[in-house]
Amino acid sequence: MPLKVLLLGGTTEARLLADRLAGDARFDVLLSFAGRTENLLIPATRYRVGGFGGASGLAAFLEREGFAALVDATHPFADEISTNAVEATQSREIPLIRLERPTWQSQPGDRFVSVVDMSAAARAIGAEPRRVFLTIGRQEVGAFKIAPQHDYLIRAINAFDPELPRARLILERGPFELAAELALLERERIEVIVSKNSGTNATYAKIVAARQLGLPVIMVERPFVPEAPLARTLDEVVHWLGNLAHGSVRGGV
Ligand code: NAP
Repeated sequence: MPLKVLLLGGTTEARLLADRLAGDARFDVLLSFAGRTENLLIPATRYRVGGFGGASGLAAFLEREGFAALVDATHPFADEISTNAVEATQSREIPLIRLERPTWQSQPGDRFVSVVDMSAAARAIGAEPRRVFLTIGRQEVGAFKIAPQHDYLIRAINAFDPELPRARLILERGPFELAAELALLERERIEVIVSKNSGTNATYAKIVAARQLGLPVIMVERPFVPEAPLARTLDEVVHWLGNLAHGSVRGGV
């Protein structure tokens, strides 16, 4: 019998992992999406869309469907679902692993301004009107209403109304190339970038581009999530799942 695995997704890594596990007879994988994105990229595994109803809903789902492992490959800023994953697996003693990239560390030439949340990011832009590249998705754009004097170029996957007086949208999904990022920053005369410290390769080109152009990056650091066994690469997750399939481990990597 293949090992039944619930994979919490919404990231490039989760989709890549699903595609890789799909061809592996040891596993039966269900990829779960929150349902935030309209034009969903369909994975090679089975998938489902929508919340579970908190930690208890997730625990009940895991039990009802007979899952033997949970892989949390959600975005590092998706703190609620990651917290729920820890609680749900602890209460049902189901093995959990979190796939998490390391944070981006400042390199020589980087001008990072580290902040704790989006309100702090909005304040950190300063009083003077600036041309801002906002690369934080759409959910927390409202935090920038306290700084309406700036020109915002907002990159998102789906269209939405940013409710800011001086904002424009560009609708694109990563990965992004360095040459294109440099061209965009120059063409739009961007003066400051706001980014989450996602640590994702797919969006790192903007950080390199900012370094090359000497632009400051207001870096919103990750929210707190309870500890869980960590994997840094897809290989580590596959290895961990392989051990579970052979019944040899119940814990971390
Ligand atoms: P969140 O605040 O941690 O989660 C809010 C609620 O959404 C959760 O409590 C859960 O609802 C539901 N949910 C989240 N991820 C889910 C999943 N993979 N499958 C089923 N339900 C899920 O998450 P978020 O920040 O809104 O992010 C939502 C999704 O977008 C996540 O899958 C995340 O990986 C992806 N994403 C987020 C960001 C970001 O910056 N936050 C960036 C890129 C992608 P219930 O409590 O009802 O179960």
